[in-house]
Amino acid sequence: MNRIVVAGGGLAAARVCEQLRAKGHDGELLVLCAEPHPPYDRPPLTKAALLEERDTTLRTDFELLEADLRLGVAATGLAPDRDVVQTAEGEIPFSTLVIATGSAPVPLPGSGPQHVVRTAQDAAHLRAGLRPGAHVVLAGASWIGGEVATAALRLGCRVTCVEPGPAPLATALGDEVGALFLPWWSDVDLRLEVGVTEVTATGVRLGDGSHLTADVVVAGIGVRPQTDWLSGSGVEVDRGVVVDEHLRTTRPGAYAVGDVAARWSVRWNRRLRVEHWDDARTGPDVAAAVILGGDAGPEPLPVHDPVPYFWSDQFGHKIQYVGQHGAEDAVVIRGRGSAKWGAAWLAPDGTLNAHLSIDQPKQMIHARAAIDAGAKPDPGSLADPDAAL
Ligand code: FAD
Repeated sequence: MNRIVVAGGGLAAARVCEQLRAKGHDGELLVLCAEPHPPYDRPPLTKAALLEERDTTLRTDFELLEADLRLGVAATGLAPDRDVVQTAEGEIPFSTLVIATGSAPVPLPGSGPQHVVRTAQDAAHLRAGLRPGAHVVLAGASWIGGEVATAALRLGCRVTCVEPGPAPLATALGDEVGALFLPWWSDVDLRLEVGVTEVTATGVRLGDGSHLTADVVVAGIGVRPQTDWLSGSGVEVDRGVVVDEHLRTTRPGAYAVGDVAARWSVRWNRRLRVEHWDDARTGPDVAAAVILGGDAGPEPLPVHDPVPYFWSDQFGHKIQYVGQHGAEDAVVIRGRGSAKWGAAWLAPDGTLNAHLSIDQPKQMIHARAAIDAGAKPDPGSLADPDAAL
């Protein structure tokens, strides 16, 4: 049997099918997609798709790829001692397994009604609630929160955002950088340093004991990898499916790509779980090459270790972040006070580890190349946004 089973129905699953066929897999290809819809793009779900109905289905032609796409069929388990995936339709044997089950939003505690945004259906439900004058309460002033706030304001809603940190995006980018986003939130009733403790029948209860009445409650407090079905399978899971730099799991013949993968990064000397579109797009190229290379494959095996990249569109601005910063890095604010500001994070030895650009796509490209090259820019000149990286 030469059958590759892909568990998951998002961007990473679609890309892995394309890459496997492009690189010469001529055996069977079967995709288990828990959702009833063929793979689609998620970034628009908190952007354009909240303003109006949007079809974001990917162009991947599964028929042309001769891939057996099983919609609405989830992988429910993986046998520890046999190469079979369990589903409600029975067992599906495989010779190679690609795990691409992505991640799912963490809900707020409490039994009251709340929205998350992960699927097209989630976005459609939320869109229906974003009526002019509706009071929308968001939990989390981060990537999802900023985008939902942008759409809700545009649709004429009244928006309150509850954020436990001292500033928007502070958890991701640090307090100093986060504070620079505050002016963007001027039309939002932003409650900082307090969290939502419970969603009630009529709104949310906060950590300080107060209660906010809401028409719509949206949780934007993070995601977790969808790995429950792998329990007891022999695939190691540690905040994601543990894979090496070739995207191989701890179980021979099984690989993981996209949001679900916690991959070893040689570049950063640590394990990363990059929950961003670009990683789900590029990782499958490497996974397919490694799978098809097998033992007789190219030496050395291809490595997936790009400089991470993501973007977010908020309050009329494009935020772009490249790299990976750590607690020990020094941050330099670039172009402070100007419309096109940004930030650079330098490791203790001066290496550029990460870069944030606001409304400067070209700068982001330079920054990514500089990080890739291990650049050590002059810290004295970095505050000037035009200084070379
Ligand atoms: P997913 O897209 O999560 O797909 C996984 C799929 O597998 C889902 O269809 C799921 O139902 C299915 N599945 C789960 N469990 C099983 C199972 N047991 N069996 C079978 N199928 C299963 N990134 C950016 O860089 N910039 C952005 O602006 C941005 N905006 C975003 C906005 C939203 C609303 C969301 C949700 C994400 C956004 N992202 C953004 C992140 C980006 O979309 C993800 O990184 C990307 O979707 C990951 O792709 P994936 O295929 O790994 O996982």
